[in-house]
Amino acid sequence: MRSHLVVGHVRGIEIGLHASWLVLAALVVSTLAGHFAMIAPNWGPKLVWTTAAVTSLCVFASLVLHELAHAAVARSRGIPVRAITLFALGGVAQIEQEAEDPRTEFWMGLAGPLASAAIGLAALLFAASFGPQPGPDPFVNLLGLVGATNAALAIFNLIPGFPLDGGRVLRAMLWRWNCDFTRSTKQAARVGQAVGTLLLAYGAGRVILQAGIGGLWSALLGWFLLEAATAAYLQADLHRLLLGVRAGDLMGSAASVEVSTMLRAFVDATLVHDGANCFVVVEKGRTTGLITPLEIAKVPRALWDRTTVGEAMRPLGPPEPLTRFTPAADALERMAKAGVSFLPIVEDGRVLGLLARAKILHTLETRRLM
Ligand SMILES: [Zn+2]
Repeated sequence: MRSHLVVGHVRGIEIGLHASWLVLAALVVSTLAGHFAMIAPNWGPKLVWTTAAVTSLCVFASLVLHELAHAAVARSRGIPVRAITLFALGGVAQIEQEAEDPRTEFWMGLAGPLASAAIGLAALLFAASFGPQPGPDPFVNLLGLVGATNAALAIFNLIPGFPLDGGRVLRAMLWRWNCDFTRSTKQAARVGQAVGTLLLAYGAGRVILQAGIGGLWSALLGWFLLEAATAAYLQADLHRLLLGVRAGDLMGSAASVEVSTMLRAFVDATLVHDGANCFVVVEKGRTTGLITPLEIAKVPRALWDRTTVGEAMRPLGPPEPLTRFTPAADALERMAKAGVSFLPIVEDGRVLGLLARAKILHTLETRRLM
C-alpha cells in the first residue's frame, strides 16, 4: 500500500497516510464528538470538538507506535522497512522481506501488540490515578479512550489468524515445530480465513438483528481478514511453485528507443510494428527509463507530436530494478505492489533485459499443471 500523503519520517522510515484514512479519521472524530456531546452537555461545541480531535490524534499516534514497534524489531534483525502507512482499517508497516528464521518472525509479530498493550495499560493507569471526578473531564476522558483503544488493538491483533500479528506469531511457532515455512504460512492463513469468516458472519448478524455501526465494523474487519488470509494462502503456494526460478531465467530481450524520439514517431514507426510492448529508453547509451503503452496512454493523443519519449517514460526505480538472481516470486510481488507489468533486470548499471509479469504467470501456470 502506497502513501498518498507523507506526514514525516522517523529514522528514515516514511510515515504516510493512504487516501482511505481520511474516511476513518472523519468517522472517528465525529463519533467521538457525538460521544462527548452526550456525556458532557456542559462542555460546549468548541471543547467537544477539540477533545475529539486531540483524542483521535493520540489514537492515530499510538497506531504509528504499534507499527514502529514491528519496524524496530525488523530493523534490528537486518530487514529493511521502507514506510508506515495509515489506512481505513489501521496501520501497516512495509517490511521489505520475510523473516529468515522463526525467532525473528515471532518477535516481529509480537512487538506491535506488546507496544499497544503497554500504551493502553499506561494510559488507563494514568486515568485511574486522577481518582473519581465530579464531572466529565476532557483529559481523563482522553486517557480512558486512548487506553481502551490500545487495549482493544492489542487483543484484536493477537487473534491467531494470519496475516494479523497473532497469526504471524502462530506461523512462527508452527514454523519452529515443522521447519516448513510454506506449510506454516498456509496453516496460519487457514486459521485467518476461519476467524475472518466468523467475524464477518457475526458482524452481518448484528447488522441484521440490531442496526448499528458496531456490527458493520466487525463485518468489515472480518471481510478484510478473510481477503488478506486468502491472498496469503495463495501467495504461499506461489512461492512453492516458483521455487528456484530466478528473474534471469525468464528474462526477455530489451528493445531500445532514444530519449529524444517524438512520441508520435515512436508509436507509428516502432511500437505498432515491432510486437514488443516494453522499451528501454536510452540517452547517450545509458538507460534512463522504460516506456510501455501504459505510459503512452497517459499522454493525450493531441500532444504526441510535442512530447518526447523521455518526457512520457517511467524513470528507472522505484521500484528497485531486479537482478538476474531475484526470485521470480519476489519480482511478481514487486510488480503487483508498484502496479507495473514489466521490470528491468540491471547489472552494473546496465539493463540486461526485461522481465514481464505475463512471462512469470505463464511459468506459474505451466508448473501448476505439472
Ligand atoms: Zn501489528
